[in-house]
Amino acid sequence: MPFDNRGHRSDQEQKHIVSSENADAGSEHDEPVWDVVVVGAGPAGASAAYAAAVAGRQVLLLEKAELPRYKTCGGGIIGPSRDALPPGFELPLRDRVHAVTFSLNGKLARTRRSKRMLFGLINRPEFDQSLVEHAQKAGAVLRTGVSVTRVEQHGPAVPDRRTVAVVLAGGETVLARAVVGADGSASRIGAHVGVKLDQVDLGLESEIPVPPPVAEDWAGRVLIDWGPLPGSYGWVFPKGDTLTVGVISARGEGAATKRYLEDFIARLGLAGFEPSVSSGHLTRCRSDDSPLSRGRVLVCGDAAGLLEPWTREGISFALRSGRLAGEWAVRISEAHDAVDARRQALNYAFAIKAGLGVEMGVGRRMLAIFERRPGLLHAAITGLRPAWNAFADIARGSTSLAGLVRTHPLARRALDLLDRRQAGAAVPEESAPEPETVPGAGAGTRE
Ligand SMILES: Cc1cc2nc3c(=O)[nH]c(=O)nc-3n(C[C@H](O)[C@H](O)[C@H](O)COP(=O)(O)OP(=O)(O)OC[C@H]3O[C@@H](n4cnc5c(N)ncnc54)[C@H](O)[C@@H]3O)c2cc1C
Repeated sequence: MPFDNRGHRSDQEQKHIVSSENADAGSEHDEPVWDVVVVGAGPAGASAAYAAAVAGRQVLLLEKAELPRYKTCGGGIIGPSRDALPPGFELPLRDRVHAVTFSLNGKLARTRRSKRMLFGLINRPEFDQSLVEHAQKAGAVLRTGVSVTRVEQHGPAVPDRRTVAVVLAGGETVLARAVVGADGSASRIGAHVGVKLDQVDLGLESEIPVPPPVAEDWAGRVLIDWGPLPGSYGWVFPKGDTLTVGVISARGEGAATKRYLEDFIARLGLAGFEPSVSSGHLTRCRSDDSPLSRGRVLVCGDAAGLLEPWTREGISFALRSGRLAGEWAVRISEAHDAVDARRQALNYAFAIKAGLGVEMGVGRRMLAIFERRPGLLHAAITGLRPAWNAFADIARGSTSLAGLVRTHPLARRALDLLDRRQAGAAVPEESAPEPETVPGAGAGTRE
């Protein structure tokens, strides 16, 4: 390996010294060139770094925080997240979910149970660090505590057309044949690529340590509350002695979102327990025509606005897009000219659009319906067995929302019908079928 484990040059670097294919600039630059530099060590970045490193490339993973670092997140690991983990990775599960209590702004609570695990819960600092360690074991080199300020694909810092300069706070420059931007929802690399968004939401969360009797009451069960603001919902995710309690809603309603979280915590009887962490974070969904690359730079995960628009589930999107970005970055790193690099970047975009893009399209439609008719959704999921089964299948990963709509004519027809009503907006909210009155949270049904 031409670099030591802090990502600095070692004796073997010569084979990676930039060649002077650009005669004007080449002689002035003798910096080592990484095959792939990944910016951000969340699930997207760790996945990208792993994919490029197992392909035998020299990979540098840059992270501005020291690890493990906290990330505002419920830590729900659904089937597609589990399936996208690198081989041999052991999920550090804090709990296994077998029951879901659904409520409609605190009312009409009903618990659905399943003998088979629905999804798992992890703590992000632990999960993210394990993913990074997995990438390191595959050969990626990690540098923490370094913030990337920008990337440059032209100009004096760039020795030739096959190279990208990654500029760090403090002025140091790192060179790469390809760059993967995985720096989250406030992404600087996303700004460079020109990522366009059509949805931004604010998530607020509290980590609440609770005494054993409270923890036992929640073990194996999550709560999902369809919230008072359009498109909002709240959750309680148990992690042993701590409950992760959060809400998410469209950005721009900060005070109302905060009030929703406070009310939610109070009515669950959790207001007396002091949170160990209270935090907020934005989530962003790309618009359909948003770019996923620019030159030799790709974006993935939150940095690319890849997120399920309805549930705002993003870990599986980060893992899946990260892996693809790592694989295509390897090809870009081998591209000898701009045309070839462009071809590989377009292939990456195609792979994303054909998979995650389709899922996002269905998610957008679901969100549009949910925004207007949360009661309808609540009634369906708590009252109709096929709807609950669909929820369970999606959580476990045996299908996806998009897969369901593609393969089940009934699901497709129902979504089309709701879409049409939505578009016409002819049916006032009051005429939506009332959710049936259901027994209390504990009385649920078992699959
Ligand atoms: C309240 C809330 C709850 C959520 N709950 C869930 C859930 O239960 N399940 C789920 O699947 N998804 C959930 N999500 C979404 C999920 O958290 C994100 O989609 C996921 O973290 C995206 O991963 P990522 O690797 O793209 O970005 P991140 O996890 O944000 O990682 C980006 C990394 O880049 C680093 N970085 C940023 N800027 C720079 C820079 N300039 N230089 C170097 N490094 C930099 C950051 O420090 C960070 O480590 C939730 C989101 C929110 C807000």
